Amino acid sequence: MRFAYDDDNIFARILRGEIPNKTVLETEHSLAFEDISAQAPVHVLVIPKGAYVSYDHFARDASDAEILDFNRAVAKVCEQCDLGDGFRAITNARAHGLQEVPHFHMHILGGRPLGRLLE
Ligand code: IMP
Repeated sequence: MRFAYDDDNIFARILRGEIPNKTVLETEHSLAFEDISAQAPVHVLVIPKGAYVSYDHFARDASDAEILDFNRAVAKVCEQCDLGDGFRAITNARAHGLQEVPHFHMHILGGRPLGRLLE
């Protein structure tokens, strides 16, 4: 089943160049940029350029090339940024996952001890 994608979401607008961003890395199919409200010394968002609402849609519908490119972009961000001794990669999906921006994105957080995610 196809999913509804809102072309006016903020990351779609960033991809179209309508809103500025602090780019960390750009590849053929992916963009990585600093989160506007950083929760850690390093807080980067990695997004595919394709229109996917959340991780499950991306993993299901993206091409092999997009999926490989995205994962390699995550690895490059981890290499490029000063993450310290480890990092957290997290993605929120839809309402119950408290996803605010409906374009799939992976948060990469690091640069300090991050505390427990689940109690
Ligand atoms: P979510 O809750 O997983 O959807 O996270 C959305 C993230 O996007 C939040 O961490 C926001 O701070 C971040 N964000 C929202 N608008 C912008 C922007 O214009 N530039 C960079 N990050 C943004």
